[in-house]
Amino acid sequence: MSGTPEAANDPAEAVAEADPSAELAGLVGELRRHVEWMADAGIRTVKRSTEPAPVRPPAPAPAPAAPARAAPPVLVSPPPAARTAPPPAAAAAPPRAEADPAAELERIRTELGPCTRCRLCEHRRHVVFGQGFARTQLVFVGEGPGEEEDNTGLAFVGRAGQLLTKMISAMGFDRDKDVYICNIVKCRPPGNRRPEPDEIAACRPFVERQLKAIAPRAIVLLGATAAQALLRVDAPIGRLRNRWTSWEGIPAMPTFHPSYLLRAPQEKAKAWDDLKLVMERLGKALPQRSQ
Ligand code: SF4
Repeated sequence: MSGTPEAANDPAEAVAEADPSAELAGLVGELRRHVEWMADAGIRTVKRSTEPAPVRPPAPAPAPAAPARAAPPVLVSPPPAARTAPPPAAAAAPPRAEADPAAELERIRTELGPCTRCRLCEHRRHVVFGQGFARTQLVFVGEGPGEEEDNTGLAFVGRAGQLLTKMISAMGFDRDKDVYICNIVKCRPPGNRRPEPDEIAACRPFVERQLKAIAPRAIVLLGATAAQALLRVDAPIGRLRNRWTSWEGIPAMPTFHPSYLLRAPQEKAKAWDDLKLVMERLGKALPQRSQ
């Protein structure tokens, strides 16, 4: 079996065990990434939210008594606000395929194994399954692993991944604790070429099973390959983005891939517009652009 990443630990437990100074340094880093992305997207001021603070849903099992400590970061937004966009035609998300999505994800990963279902197995180092919070309300789906992802077995850890981290942070989420990230194909295409249709067809059932296991409230499709593969359409990303569609009843928002945004930073503001629609749907407070 390749060195694929382990499933995310319980975030509450992770926070409880964290070194306070490391935790503070992490928060500072998160704030810096947040500000960098917002500046790139042309956002100069932030409106102070008057919405009540979101609350984390109850944990599935009672936790043992813990020492007094600040509450962990927000994971789940409040009930949809009045300004939340109306759902698309088939907005009712399907029930989770499994009561324990983390366990179901692990079953899928085990079944995938050291996969040889398509030719992308021939040059890969690691199968990049995906990682994040299994009970998340938001999943990001990209195209496929690049060199650093192939080396580490982790999705979105190269330069594009760093930009995605900023985008997620600007939305008010922590990429490790709040969202789940995966790709349409799980092995690196040679030379970072686009995956071929037969490779996508071989791998797509696994990302579809991941999405059904997680059953998020929204999916962000990063780039044309992910959007076209999952939605089974041919339209360019410029026509697909900035409007809600649906995959198996789950609202889906296509937007630009972070790799494209690295090459075309002038498009970051458009990507931010797409992400704001996702934030609205999830009830997150929106920063405001200065006039
Ligand atoms: S890309 Fe997917 S189907 Fe192809 S070998 Fe890798 S895991 Fe298997």
